[in-house]
Amino acid sequence: MKHFPIFLALEGRRVVLSGGGEAALAKLRLLLKTEAHLTVFAPDPAPEIAEWATQGRLRLVRRRLQPGDAMCAALFYAANDDDAEDARVAKLARADGALTNLVDNLHGSQFITPAIVDRDPVTVAIGTEGAAPVLARQIKRELEERLSPVLGTLARIGKSFRHVAEALPMGRARRDFWADYYDTAGPRAHAAGGEASVRETLDDLLNAHLTRQAAAGHVAFVGSGPGDPDLLTMKARKALDTADVVIYDRLVTPEILELARREALMIDVGKEGFGRHTPQEEINAHIVRHVADGHQVVRLKSGDPTVFGRLDEEVEAVEAAGLSFSIVPGITAASASVATIGQSLTRRGRNANVRFLTGHDMKGFADHDWADLAKPGQVAAIYMGKRAARFIQGRLLMHGADPETPVTVIENASRPNERVLSATLSTLEPELSRANLTGPAVVLLGLAPRTAASLTRPHLEHPTLQEVL
Ligand code: SAH
Repeated sequence: MKHFPIFLALEGRRVVLSGGGEAALAKLRLLLKTEAHLTVFAPDPAPEIAEWATQGRLRLVRRRLQPGDAMCAALFYAANDDDAEDARVAKLARADGALTNLVDNLHGSQFITPAIVDRDPVTVAIGTEGAAPVLARQIKRELEERLSPVLGTLARIGKSFRHVAEALPMGRARRDFWADYYDTAGPRAHAAGGEASVRETLDDLLNAHLTRQAAAGHVAFVGSGPGDPDLLTMKARKALDTADVVIYDRLVTPEILELARREALMIDVGKEGFGRHTPQEEINAHIVRHVADGHQVVRLKSGDPTVFGRLDEEVEAVEAAGLSFSIVPGITAASASVATIGQSLTRRGRNANVRFLTGHDMKGFADHDWADLAKPGQVAAIYMGKRAARFIQGRLLMHGADPETPVTVIENASRPNERVLSATLSTLEPELSRANLTGPAVVLLGLAPRTAASLTRPHLEHPTLQEVL
């Protein structure tokens, strides 16, 4: 980080600017939002600057900057639309001890002014150290759209109410109150009746929260999708934002865990050795204990929690303890896998049903209706199927399946290290063993990758269709 972002208190401090044209105007519009004492040196100022001087909003000196003019200034801006003049005045200002900025001259500047999203008193500053001004503008645009225009007003009123809200116990109760205020109650009241209505609402809202008996704990069984954080649902993100405790599996990617609230207690029930074999009762006990303690628990499962996720066992434990839960669906590995190869799970005239199968169950390799699966046109997504591949291959061939039936294996679907193995039923083994896949993989029976060159995977750096092993 070459530039360290700070918010500088400018109230009552001296800020000096040299210049009277376009560059000066742009900077002054920003600086006039502060409470600094502004002095502008310009022999020939734009009419707006003269007008601001008349209004007493800044002091205007109608001449070029001279030594000593920037004395005691906290900040100095060289904004003359003239590189030589900027260099001259910046040198003088530095000699006077001011921190200097030269407009559009990153290297000559001691500080830079970020792109700003202004919802005073909430201010978002965006800097790219000059590397990507386009990106800064894009981020600014996105934030401008996302942050309510009345956010500043809400924050200002909220700030004056902070001490009153201290009537609520610290921690979740207070967080919930403010979340309610900023997310729903505040904007609604503002839309209905402006600032006065917001103030009234704060009182009502506080009473409601005070009388609400200590909120009970809750567990959300949340699907984290196949690994790409962009494939999380908004609901999953919200749950992660507010979680006190996150209990997660081995297949949940670090990028997704990053999104959890920073103070959340993170419990890994998927560690190697401990992990895959963390007894289910132990996981259930973790969940129940934290929910019973009144916490907001997120039980994060890869893909969709309702698909091969042992969800019911956990739900039953929560129910048996009389605690509340909800389920947030996620994108299951089968959906991500077919998306990768540009195919549909169902297709008119080919298959009117699709099966999600597990390669093995508690007793070993899982048995299925092989005779039915062996019929032409069947599509199945086989989870946990790598080790069972030879068994599945044998069973299907034995039941008369066409050896040329396409079989595609997708490893690490949606992740940067995603790989696709395109085979047929007859070649699946030994090809799969030879490929030595180490990540989670779905075996898609009856589907071959679409070979259209136009199929790209936008989340990957290289827009190649697949790495056929
Ligand atoms: N609930 C999960 C499945 C859990 S079972 C879901 O809905 O996706 C674990 C199996 O899911 C793995 O053995 C593998 O078959 C599959 N899987 C999970 N994530 C995957 C991914 N990113 N790519 C391919 N397969 C994945």
